[in-house]
Amino acid sequence: MDGKVLLVTGGSRGIGAAVALRGAGEGYLVAVNYSANRAAADSVVEQIVSTGGEAFAVAGDVGNEADVLAMFAAVEARWGRLDALVNNAGIVGHKARLEDMDLARLDRVIRINVLGTLLCSREAVKRMSTRHGGHGGSIVNLSSVAAVLGAPSTYVDYAASKGAVDSFTTGLAREVAAEGIRVNAVRPGIIDTEIHAASGMPDRVAETAASIPMQRAGTADEVASAILWLLSDAASYTTGALLTVSGGR
Ligand code: NAP
Repeated sequence: MDGKVLLVTGGSRGIGAAVALRGAGEGYLVAVNYSANRAAADSVVEQIVSTGGEAFAVAGDVGNEADVLAMFAAVEARWGRLDALVNNAGIVGHKARLEDMDLARLDRVIRINVLGTLLCSREAVKRMSTRHGGHGGSIVNLSSVAAVLGAPSTYVDYAASKGAVDSFTTGLAREVAAEGIRVNAVRPGIIDTEIHAASGMPDRVAETAASIPMQRAGTADEVASAILWLLSDAASYTTGALLTVSGGR
């Protein structure tokens, strides 16, 4: 396992940061992508390096093709291989009904959550697929239970974007299954990260706890644990899975 390379998009905060830290703990060399907050990415890298791991921060908006190409080129230049990709970067807009969502918001949500996942996966497949001389690999996409629940009056655009991630996971898993690549998704429920403040609902974690069967939100590390399992050889016959990590929600 030592020496395998993991790229985590949006690895600077929340679930992505937990994946980067856990991944490094399991021996991955970790590329920590971020789009705006360099200090947060540097902090994750420092934590990994200070505990004997190897990591670097790589800037790039996953919804921008030129940025994605540069990001994958940077990983290749650094380590010369790619074994695992976690398509974690994702955003929500403010809580709203559909008729109050303007084009800029809809474009941003779909571009980052859907197009970003497609573009990064495309670049990973080019490098991992045995069809292109690669030695295989594993991809995990971040979906959400919103893909199933629909997030009415909250953010149906986000729910739709995660529904697209689910369909894409199913299709790509089958497309590359014979080429050494496994593709899976996790569907987290309500997880305690900064994403809720970004949606204008900073108290969402506390307010929804009672409605969750386990009576609490999940932690980023609990989601990271499921992601690292899907990436690992322990999940060697698992592909196309949509794994719900939601405390029963
Ligand atoms: P978060 O705390 O808001 O962190 C988001 C991360 O994504 C940050 O590292 C951010 O970096 C990065 N990012 C944002 N836009 C980006 C872009 N265009 N390109 C590259 N990186 C970008 O989010 P989170 O709660 O950990 O969520 C992570 C994933 O899990 C998302 O896909 C989300 O939809 C999904 N999810 C979360 C929950 C939940 O309750 N938290 C539930 C279900 C699914 P910068 O700060 O540099 O922009």
